[in-house]
Formats: sequence, structure tokens, C-alpha cells
Amino acid sequence: MRKYIIAGNWKMNGTKESVRTLLEGIKKGAVEINHPNVEWIVFPPYVFLDATEKTLGDSGVAWGAQNLSREKSGAFTGEISASMLQEFHCRYVLVGHSERRTLYGENDDLVAAKFMVACQAGLIPVLCVGETLAEREKGLTQAVVMRQLNAVIRLAGGVELFNQAVVAYEPVWAIGTGLNATPEQAQEVHAAIRKEFSQHDAVLADKLQILYGGSLKSDSAQAILAMPDIDGGLIGGASLKAEEFLNIGKSCNR
Ligand code: PEP
Repeated sequence: MRKYIIAGNWKMNGTKESVRTLLEGIKKGAVEINHPNVEWIVFPPYVFLDATEKTLGDSGVAWGAQNLSREKSGAFTGEISASMLQEFHCRYVLVGHSERRTLYGENDDLVAAKFMVACQAGLIPVLCVGETLAEREKGLTQAVVMRQLNAVIRLAGGVELFNQAVVAYEPVWAIGTGLNATPEQAQEVHAAIRKEFSQHDAVLADKLQILYGGSLKSDSAQAILAMPDIDGGLIGGASLKAEEFLNIGKSCNR
């Protein structure tokens, strides 16, 4: 049975003090909830990774970064490399979040390159894919998602690397807007993603964790997380309050 992942993407939010409180709250709550089938992850801004590592330690809550550079080192002002993330014992890294794609011009090729760099460094990439509202309205949802996935599969020379990767389906129109995909809309895309992988490797497809992201909150989580191909959530706004984030995890019912 696939485990759930409940992951918080804190985006560009937090202060030293608020981050300390949030980390302590999540750490305590995750231990108390002690859900055998949930993996907890937080994605703080880079500057808080040190505090995150010191606070979470071996608590069982994992952490990762929101982005990484495709380059190893050198004259790339403002960038952060995979080896820097390794120094802070990040286990995961977000790759291709829609805000990176739309606000910072990350195209499929760059996202695929970052995915490869993450894998080569032993980081687990959480590959984010999803369509815009205009694309959905034109009936292009699955075409867009498959194009984004296939750019990575092509560069990786197959799906093998997805044995150590996670996929997050995040419809762009649902991110930060308060609009949820319905459980059925999300399930339809998740099932299509799994089917795409099963054409390459049925065993891998069956164990691949596919997360849903887009305005997930504790009151909408239960129905979405009950869908058979949805293996957890990538949560933005609602991950900034420990109680709300933990309540989403409590909704996991497999
Ligand atoms: C996200 O940032 O990945 C996200 C899903 O944000 P929100 O939950 O705020 O829509």
C-alpha cells in the first residue's frame, strides 16, 4: 500500500520566530498523531533550512527545499545547488512548481534538467505538473500534464528515476486561489498520470506517490485524500498554521 505524503510548501513566508513556532508545532503534532501511513514533509525558504534541520532532527518529519539550481557551483548569483541542500540534509526538493514555471520562466527543459540534478545528488524530487485554467477550458489538461511529465521521462531516458521521485498534480488555477479541484477532477488526472507510468513500468506506477495540490484545507482534504490514486497533498497557504496542516494529515484514511 502506498503511504500518504503530507507536504507543506511555505513559499516566501515566515520569520525566524514564526518558523521556530511552526516547526515545533508540526514536530509535536506529528509525533502525537503518529499516523503509520503518513510521511510529513516541510519545504521552508532556504534561509530557514538550518533551523529546520536543528529543530526537526530525527523527529520523523522530513524537510526539503522549494527549488534548486541546475548548476553545480560557480558564478550563478542567487542560486542554490544540490550539494548545498545535501549539507542541510534535505531529503526532498520541489521541482517545477507552477510559480517557478509562470513567474520565473522555468520551461519543461529546465525543469527536467533540475529533476536530473536532484536525482544525481540523491535528493528526492517532487515534480510539480498542472494546467492553467485556459488550458483546462480548452480540454488540454491531460495533454499539458503529459507534456510536462514526458519532458522529464525523455531526458531521464525512461521512468527508472521515478522509483526515487514523487509527482504532484497541481492545477495552476487552484493554487492560492481558494478554488479546489473536485475530488473527481483530481482523481481523473491522477489516474491518467498513473496510467502513463504503467505503460512504461506497471510495478513502478503502482507504487508512485502522486500528490494533489491546490487550495487544500482541512475541510476539503478528506474527500480528496479518499480518492484511490491520490496519495497525499502539497499544501501552500494551509501549511503555515501547524494545527491546520496537521488536521489535513489526520484526514488520511487509508
Ligand atoms: C502550492 O504552493 O503548492 C499550493 C498548493 O498552494 P495553496 O495550497 O496555497 O494553493
